[in-house]
Parts: sequence; structure tokens; C-alpha cells
Amino acid sequence: MKAHDGMYIDGAWRPAAGADAIEVVNPADEQVIGRVPAGTAEDVDAAVRAARAALPGWAATPPAERGALIGALRDVLVARKDEIAETVTVELGSPLKFSENVHAAVPVAVAGSYAELAATYAFEEKVGNSVVHHEPIGVVGAITPWNYPLHQIVAKVAPALAAGCTVVLKPAEDTPLVAQLFAEAVHEAGLPAGVFNLVTGLGPVAGQALAEHEGVDLVSFTGSTAVGRHIAATAGAAIKKVALELGGKSANVILPSADLAKAVNVGVANVMSNSGQTCSAWTRMLVHRDQYDEAVELAATAAAKYGDRIGPVVNGKQRERVRGYIEKGVAEGARLVAGGPESPREQGYFISPTVFADVTPDMTIAQEEIFGPVLSILRYEDEEDALRIANGTVYGLAGAVWAGDETEAVAFARRLETGQVDINGGRFNPLAPFGGYKQSGVGRELGTHGFAEYLQTKSLQF
Ligand code: NAD
Repeated sequence: MKAHDGMYIDGAWRPAAGADAIEVVNPADEQVIGRVPAGTAEDVDAAVRAARAALPGWAATPPAERGALIGALRDVLVARKDEIAETVTVELGSPLKFSENVHAAVPVAVAGSYAELAATYAFEEKVGNSVVHHEPIGVVGAITPWNYPLHQIVAKVAPALAAGCTVVLKPAEDTPLVAQLFAEAVHEAGLPAGVFNLVTGLGPVAGQALAEHEGVDLVSFTGSTAVGRHIAATAGAAIKKVALELGGKSANVILPSADLAKAVNVGVANVMSNSGQTCSAWTRMLVHRDQYDEAVELAATAAAKYGDRIGPVVNGKQRERVRGYIEKGVAEGARLVAGGPESPREQGYFISPTVFADVTPDMTIAQEEIFGPVLSILRYEDEEDALRIANGTVYGLAGAVWAGDETEAVAFARRLETGQVDINGGRFNPLAPFGGYKQSGVGRELGTHGFAEYLQTKSLQF
């Protein structure tokens, strides 16, 4: 797609307040593929004003009508799915099949779920002698990252609009093109002017201005824990609600009764998917000591098969960061059994699928989020030890448990301090709440739980 050189504000593309631009680079070949404007506080202010002006009319629109418009938006996303997949592939670098099956397809499912929920949700409920009204929280400032660029936009914008909120979006600087395409889709679907607004720009400038703006009632942020902490402090000072989807270091716990080969192979695929740039990736594989050597061999073989088919990481800075972690793993005594810090290609930000054995829980690569195709395999003595290791990080976003029978796996999963657990390889469910325990976040996204973040209650007593 052709990049827009303005901001989508109040239903039209408008010139940016400043002249600065952000270059969009294809991480697979390092070529510049477009330029988008770098928004300033002035652009953010114009967008928030438009969102505020549109709020009363949109909030008063019958929910079924809002749902129908979100349904129309979903249909545009379906009609433009090939363009979406191609756009994500050139700005994020993911293989086209993955862009089609995940980056373009998941947002359709999520938008569809909110089209339906808007029409069926009980916005009023009776509690004893009270009637509780669920009202939109107001203007939402949405700040999103680049790793699932359209999914993360839709997971915020669709429920916010369904709830009757209006939105200003500041997407990640690495993937602004799919955000512009989304704004085009909103326009095409016929949503009223000002209900959705887009300001592209740098985090510390446009993102910061949005998080600080007094016309914003809720800041919904997905990204790193460091920036999330900063945004929470900014919003907290203004007593503004925040929803935070942050990092993870999820454990894939393989209990001795599990199908080891299946658990290891699915576990490796999970980490390498999207070049390891998935916040919920199972980056720590926990294996019983009696099965450890076999698991390491299976994982090394599985990783080696990927080659550079997984695609590059998003940019040069990220590649250096991931390489730094791989070097640190080696320096701290972990054993490299696949991949390593060298790039498999001359051009593009590629990292070889990497697997570390003999990782202990205190090592940096077992504690910090790497956000690249790097798996750490840890050894446990017994179930209690596995639980201690699994729960032994500051994060708690996702995880997996594998066992011979489901009851055993579920019993273990209930003791994990984490927001989502896949049992014996369970499938992603766009209707189930997604979000973190501990430093992985505040609040939930997706389904009715994600919807509730955008509502506030008013009780009328009779
Ligand atoms: P990031 O935190 O650097 O950036 C995320 C967004 O915040 C971007 O739009 C960026 O421009 C903006 N931003 C940066 N500084 C800001 C500031 N001072 N004020 C306001 N906005 C600012 O994260 P990233 O590098 O884009 O993404 C990778 C991280 O995101 C990883 O740590 C990953 O785990 C996390 N993540 C979490 C989830 C989840 O759902 N929990 C999903 C995806 C990514």
C-alpha cells in the first residue's frame, strides 16, 4: 500500500502539524519502503479533540447499530485481507503464509466477536433495588506495539468502539502502514467521523502526549514492561484508568507422563513462531531430569529444521538485543545446542533459531524477555521444583502444561501464577480473556472481559 503523509483525524486525512517523518524499513532486506509523518503533541491534541467531540453521539448510538458498523469494518478487513498480509510482511518481515493465517485472520475473528457482543451485551442489569448501567468510559488512548500489529490494534479499537468509546491510536513506529490501512478500513466501513483517529509517531513524543492528555479517559497500552511502568505512572498522576498488556517469560511445563516428542516439537514451534516476537511465547521449556537429554536432542533437531524460514526480527536494534542475550547465555554457562549469535544471512535482520540447554533459573536468559527465536531448556527434579521454577520470574502472561491426562495437567495449571495456560497444546481462543499476572500487566483483553475494560458502571437505586 501507499503510505499516507497525514494523520487520520475526524474522518479525513489531514496534514501533520510538523514536518518530521519516520522511515518504514523492510526487515527482510533493509530497504526503505515508505515514510509516515512523525506526530507531535499538536497532532495528538487535534485527534483527542475530534474523539471528544464524537463521543456523545457515538455513546448514544444504539449498541446494535454500533455492532453493525463494527461488522462492516470486519467485512472490509476480510475484503482487504491479502493487502493486509502483504503490508505486515513488508513492514514486520513475517513470512507471507503466517501473515495471511495469523496477522490478517485473527483481527477478523476479533472484530467479528465484538460486532456480535455489542448487539447482545446486557448494558443494563438489575441488582436488587438497583439498575446498573454499563456506560462507555470515554475517550481511549490506544498505544500498540509492532509484533502483532493489526491484532493489537483491533483488540483495543473493536471493544472500545463496541462499548461506545471513541479512540485515538498511536501505533508502533516500525509498523505504521498496517495502522494506516486500518484507518482506511474504518473509513470505508462508514464509521462516523471522529470515532476513530490515528496519529503516527514516536513513542516518547506522540505516545507520551497521548498518555498525558487530559482529554483521554483510559490509556490502553501493549508493549514493554519498562514503557508500561512509565505510562502507568503518567496516567496514575492524572487518576486516569490504564490497561496494560506487557512482557512475558512463559513456562512450557512438560510433566513426566506427557507425550514428550509432541510437547517438545509444539513447544519449539511456539517459540519460533513470529521469529520469537510473541509476548506469550513459551520461552522456558521445563523438563524432568530423567527425560532431559532426550528433550534437548528433540528440540535441537526441531529448531535446526527451521533455518531462516522463520523470517527476520523487526529491526537492527532488536537483532542486536537478541544477539546480546545469546552471548550472555553462553557467557553465563548455558550450552548452545542450536543456532547462535551469527546471522544466517548477509542482509536482513535474521537470527538463527536458537536453543540453549543446561539453563538454570537464575540465568539472565531464564529471567528476562528476549523477544527473539531463543528457547531455554531447564531441568527440574520433581513437580514442586517445576512449579517453583515456572513461577520464579516477575512475569505471568501465559504458559503450557503437558501431561498424560488432562486432569493432571489442569491440577498443575491451577497452581501457575499466569493469565493463560494451554493444556496439552490447546488452541488460541479469541474469546477467552488474555492478560497478565504480576508484571505482565493490568487488565484483560479479548472477549467479554476485555470489553468490560472500556465500560464504567452507574447504579440507579429505586
Ligand atoms: P515498546 O514498549 O517500546 O513500545 C510499544 C508502544 O509504546 C509503541 O507504540 C511505542 O511507540 C510506544 N512508546 C514507547 N515509549 C513511549 C512513551 N514514553 N510513552 C508512550 N508511548 C511510548 O515495546 P515494543 O518494543 O514496541 O514491543 C515489544 C514489547 O511489547 C515486548 O516486551 C513484548 O513482550 C511486549 N508485548 C506485550 C504484549 C501483551 O499482550 N502482553 C503484546 C505484544 C507485545
